[in-house]
Amino acid sequence: MFLRDYPLSNVTALGVGGPADFFVRPRSIEEIQRAQNFALENNYPITVIGYGTNLLVRDGGIRGVVIQLADTFANARVDQNTLTATTGCLLSSVSKLALYYGLSGLEFAVGIPGGIGGAVFMNAGAYEGEIGPLVRRVQFVKNGSIGEWGAHEFSYSYRNSRVQAEHAIVTEVTLELEAADKSVILSKMNELQKKRRSRQPLEYPSAGSTFKRPPGHFVGPMIEKANLKGFRIGGAEVSTKHAGFIINVGTTKAQDFLDLIRHIQITIREQFNVELEPEIRILGEEL
Ligand SMILES: Cc1cc2nc3c(=O)[nH]c(=O)nc-3n(C[C@H](O)[C@H](O)[C@H](O)COP(=O)(O)OP(=O)(O)OC[C@H]3O[C@@H](n4cnc5c(N)ncnc54)[C@H](O)[C@@H]3O)c2cc1C
Repeated sequence: MFLRDYPLSNVTALGVGGPADFFVRPRSIEEIQRAQNFALENNYPITVIGYGTNLLVRDGGIRGVVIQLADTFANARVDQNTLTATTGCLLSSVSKLALYYGLSGLEFAVGIPGGIGGAVFMNAGAYEGEIGPLVRRVQFVKNGSIGEWGAHEFSYSYRNSRVQAEHAIVTEVTLELEAADKSVILSKMNELQKKRRSRQPLEYPSAGSTFKRPPGHFVGPMIEKANLKGFRIGGAEVSTKHAGFIINVGTTKAQDFLDLIRHIQITIREQFNVELEPEIRILGEEL
């Protein structure tokens, strides 16, 4: 069932990160429960990941059990104006499924890489839309048992949701959408995709926006003003296209990204008296 010492650089968008002691890609809730029980019985920590598009895994890797919910755990269905998806579904695929059924609400998500589990965990959003307000039901596994939150129990805020505090493994999500004209949905999606392609360095590996937006400030312009566009440590570089992104221009070391993040934080604190908090999730141990 488990792969031992599995290199997480294989499953992170940045292409860096050390090994997981035990790595598993479940195909069902029963397999998730089995993996969770194995970890509980042996007192191993559990880390759940999706497609690794928002992750920076340190070079020492992750101790214990890493459960990846991705394409082996991807099923979605539509019933009138609700869409229910297991958490290995890609957010972009779910958004296109909504388009197919003439359902509006997920247009913002069409260009966000990664899975719906990561999106709910992060309360992913873009261009005035976010997933939190659409959530009607969250199914999860915790301590080996299945539980559920209704819409009123699922709290969320900017890049944060109840999942972060609960350490639950989200297995299925139901979203409520609105019937709309397919051509209107499609043109909105095309417009947002065009914006994204023109602004983001999609031709390089990255983990999306590196930092959360501090109240009253925009991260990219601040980093640009600090003259850090193109600044590089090893093969980690502040994108010249969008300074809010750090891209991989040829490193296998997570440490390069950690050092660059630290350098940016210190520079921005000194120059603007603003604390930048990483939006990307930093997991695992140093070498
Ligand atoms: C080029 C690029 C552009 C991006 N643009 C955006 C954007 O516009 N807006 C935005 O919000 N994000 C953006 N991101 C970040 C990322 O795509 C999203 O946050 C995405 O939703 C993460 O999904 P994932 O499956 O890759 O999660 P991962 O990166 O694998 O995990 C992210 C976090 O979620 C947790 N997690 C994942 N699945 C589960 C689960 N089933 N149960 C419990 N916890 C779970 C993990 O433990 C981790 O802490 C971008 C990333 C890239 C590379």
